[in-house]
Amino acid sequence: SSFGTGGRDLRQSRKLQDVCYDIRGPVLQEAKRLEEEGRRIIKLNIGNPAPFGFEAPDEILVDIVRNLPTAQGYCDSQGLLSARTAIVNHYQEQQIESITVDDVWLGNGVSELITMSLQAMLDNGDEVLVPAPDYPLWTAATSLAGGVPVHYLCDERNGWLPDIEDIRARITPRSKAIVVINPNNPTGAVYPPGVLEQIADVAREYGLAVLSDEIYDKILYDGAVHTAFARVAPDLFVLTFNGLSKAYRVAGFRAGWMAVSGPKKHAASYLEGITILANMRLCANVPAQHAIQIALGGRQSIRELVLPGGRLHEQREAALTALDKIPGVSCVRPSGAMYVFPRLDPERYPIKDDQQFVLQLLREQHVLVVQGSGFNWPEPDHLRIVTLPRADDLTEAIGRIGSFLSDYDGG
Ligand code: PLP
Repeated sequence: SSFGTGGRDLRQSRKLQDVCYDIRGPVLQEAKRLEEEGRRIIKLNIGNPAPFGFEAPDEILVDIVRNLPTAQGYCDSQGLLSARTAIVNHYQEQQIESITVDDVWLGNGVSELITMSLQAMLDNGDEVLVPAPDYPLWTAATSLAGGVPVHYLCDERNGWLPDIEDIRARITPRSKAIVVINPNNPTGAVYPPGVLEQIADVAREYGLAVLSDEIYDKILYDGAVHTAFARVAPDLFVLTFNGLSKAYRVAGFRAGWMAVSGPKKHAASYLEGITILANMRLCANVPAQHAIQIALGGRQSIRELVLPGGRLHEQREAALTALDKIPGVSCVRPSGAMYVFPRLDPERYPIKDDQQFVLQLLREQHVLVVQGSGFNWPEPDHLRIVTLPRADDLTEAIGRIGSFLSDYDGG
């Protein structure tokens, strides 16, 4: 036929063969179907603050609106100078001196920059060390770029800190970079400087670039302190990723950045590659770039949310308390971010396929969570729960998970 694809199947490219991003995968489709049937689903699946009543600081919105008339055109492909200057200052305050405005790229969220940084770096078969569990875009973007994600373990029995010996054991002549997610999604672990230094030692020894995703750097509990990787390793080539989606609650604006620190002499070609990709997509969303200066320079309202009495703090408490009531469920207390990543004892709950498990939970209890394997965790024995809903909703939802588990026989 001369219509459509002429009778030939239009198939996805082979590039997508190993690309997987389950946070918005088949389970979410089923949730949408149930909602269309009129069911109310409690959604504990996506780290998107605004829909849960976490509003952006007013000054950000006001500034964007005020700047709209001058934000109609494309800007420089690296981003607005005002935003990049504010980002330089943000790192200077953390004693990271080597970052200049030429070292900062703005993107449509950190997501776009993660994809660009790997596309520019990897030849087919090049390896990237990625944590397990991870925020799965890192794994997916490595595969999409032709690379091979090699997962190193974070150790649940050690507060989910990266297992340095495991990292060493996985290095090969094809290793090019190591990804660090700190504070971590999904575990909430915040890495002490000593752990970052040990990772830096490995990167130094094997000449690896470090890709440090610090998007939760201001979402910290119980007095936890975040240390930027670039701070502990000024002598290493580090790309630091951050943005406005979480701490400033404007995930929908798509405002993120990437900052290069350390010696650039041997990375000139790579940085040219980044420039090519940045040029090809012209520029990031300009109105949202205006928000960066005011966000970084203004009142840090996130602090009130993470202190005792603040919503994020209280909701994390509610989630941990509710989990604690379920026999055979344990959870490392997260020091940062906005998730809990509980373990379901496999002796008690013999889950074979954790996607099937969360699908069944969704259908029976109308609670939507993401299975641990969606974060490249190798065993079917974890779930990720977002702690953004109100404490009552969290308690209700986790109570329902408890009811579901009390009848669970591995089916
Ligand atoms: N990195 C981590 C660790 C995340 O958890 C997320 C979003 O959940 C992102 C990056 C993506 O952020 P952005 O909205 O800036 O694209």
